[in-house]
Amino acid sequence: MSNWEQIVGHGWAVQMLADGLANDRLGHAYLITGPEQVGKTTLARTFAQALNCEASVGERPCGHCRPCKLIGVDRHPDVKLVSPEVSGRGKLTLKIETIRQLQQDLNLSAYEARYKVAILERFDAATIGAANAFLKTLEEPPGKVVLLLTATDADMLLPTISSRCRTLNLRPLSPDLIEQHLATQLQVPAEKATLLAHLADGRLGWAIRAAKDETILQTRAEQLAYLHDALAGQRAQRFALADKLARKPETLPSLLKTWLSWWRDLTLLNQRQGQPISLMLTNVDEIERLEPLATAWNELQITGSLNQTNQALWQLERNANTRLVLENLLLLYPLPESA
Ligand SMILES: [Zn+2]
Repeated sequence: MSNWEQIVGHGWAVQMLADGLANDRLGHAYLITGPEQVGKTTLARTFAQALNCEASVGERPCGHCRPCKLIGVDRHPDVKLVSPEVSGRGKLTLKIETIRQLQQDLNLSAYEARYKVAILERFDAATIGAANAFLKTLEEPPGKVVLLLTATDADMLLPTISSRCRTLNLRPLSPDLIEQHLATQLQVPAEKATLLAHLADGRLGWAIRAAKDETILQTRAEQLAYLHDALAGQRAQRFALADKLARKPETLPSLLKTWLSWWRDLTLLNQRQGQPISLMLTNVDEIERLEPLATAWNELQITGSLNQTNQALWQLERNANTRLVLENLLLLYPLPESA
């Protein structure tokens, strides 16, 4: 059993990387794209293990030898993991200094590995300066160096960067696959596994984190409780809630994304009235609340609320007045008597 098997889904990508290695047709640069926490870095790290594993060819990466173990915990001297810095507002930036440091390092010969590997996470966060500096390495890579870039979307990279990489685009995983992994590998109870698999939106990494960290589901429950309160309240209660929520602006992007997924579920139910589509829903535990509303409110009210929630997220990203944005949003949501 090789360590490739720890990769859930993405079988074709594993096949492509393993075949390239087995047939001695390696690229010097790969770009792994896909949604956040879908498994991009795990795939890159496992490939780095395969490149440097000491087991016999057919068993690489074994996961047990010294290189495999060190790479698995990002401690191997010849395998560098480079990540962007996170600023206060959650913005990611990969700086030119970081790239320069990596380049110096890649120009030295390997300590012990067959291949020096650089994993550059979220290269879409590279500044123009950093991207242009890195271009030199992509154009003239040092020998026995393999560059593994990850990004949420290839289109967010300079074409001069992406065109020099072999691209592997990872798709979101199905809820079934995520649920199965949570239940069998992590012993998550069935009901919770189902819920997390649907909330994950195809991102296994998110589901695993949420299975281990209770606060993630607790936060979501609070976010939904605020939404339920808002929808049950009249104008005065909604003004008060907007005022309260506006005091914690850093919590709002996550809150609004939760609300957005709720309205999206309601839109789905409204458009497919009567048909069983619970499998497509994100908030599967809200179905009993959603179903009556999907028939009580009309399409215009529901899609209007969905669009306005999206709009609010967009406005807050652009530093609009927080309280005003929330007031507009909550007052546009259907009032109780209209249900
Ligand atoms: Zn190994």
